[in-house]
Amino acid sequence: MVEPLPSTLPWLAQPLRQALATARSHALLVQGPAGVGQFDLALLLAQSWLCEQPQEHAACGQCPSCHLFHSHTHPDFQLLVPEALRESLGWGAAEAEGAAEPKASKTKPSREIKVDAVRAMLSFAQATSARGRAKVVVVYPAEALNTVAANALLKTLEEPAGQLRFVLASSAPESLLPTIRSRCQPVPLGLPARAASLQWLAGQGVDAAEVLLDAAGGRPQEARDWFEAGLRANAWLQLPQRLARGESAALTDWPQPRAIDALQRLCHDLLRRAHGAPPTYFPPESLPSPRLSAPLHQWDAALRQAARHADHPLNAGLLMESLFAQGQQALRAASPRRAA
Ligand SMILES: [Zn+2]
Repeated sequence: MVEPLPSTLPWLAQPLRQALATARSHALLVQGPAGVGQFDLALLLAQSWLCEQPQEHAACGQCPSCHLFHSHTHPDFQLLVPEALRESLGWGAAEAEGAAEPKASKTKPSREIKVDAVRAMLSFAQATSARGRAKVVVVYPAEALNTVAANALLKTLEEPAGQLRFVLASSAPESLLPTIRSRCQPVPLGLPARAASLQWLAGQGVDAAEVLLDAAGGRPQEARDWFEAGLRANAWLQLPQRLARGESAALTDWPQPRAIDALQRLCHDLLRRAHGAPPTYFPPESLPSPRLSAPLHQWDAALRQAARHADHPLNAGLLMESLFAQGQQALRAASPRRAA
């Protein structure tokens, strides 16, 4: 027996069934929060449409087409993703043709889906189907299409030749060109049920999954990624206290964007508590008693600013030091008696 897809996430079965049953358009747009399996759902849809013995609710996982799909060599499938993501999505090697040029070794892989990639896909779109069934293009994340690339995609998206189908996936659909959005049938994909997420995380070997799932805002894939990057539940629970004590070592091992993200979540929770709302990412008992203060608002603003430039910091060390010091101040202002 071959599994439909090795990476299948159990909570996708229902959305997959639903999308297969209700798809009327040749272009679907999977949309919702990141970290819950958008890309996986897009692949499952593609595999189901390409499958030569499709089951009622999914691909069979065993026909020649499914085998080609698993080995990333299906001639009627094309994947449009930014070069910078290809590897981490597990589609690095097989897709090398036309994508990897030797000169790319010196330049940073792009975070955009560029027009060259779309043009290459357009010639795929014109060709007849190699296996006589559908042809499928997955675009992920769709917001990575730059404007030129998005415009190049429009006409084919509107009038695809033959059996061509598209699945776009985006966690920022509002940032897509309205003309792209209007050509796609939306497929909403929300947060999975907590129990399903926890069960899956346990199967992935994630300890204290409850804490990390909360830290990730209920997004199981993100919780798994944080765990794999080295975050442990204890470190997360201790972060507010260590920050208040000025222990900047609390975050030094982390890649900068992730460290800024963690501080943003802490700041977010402090603001929520100060407004009388329950925290989202930390258990209430791990947070100081909240109070709105100028340092808290300044920290919030500084973190937003830093997050916008997290990929191109001028001086990463200095920036983190400053964000940390501001956070310490904010926490002290939040609970004056506790800081010492
Ligand atoms: Zn099949």
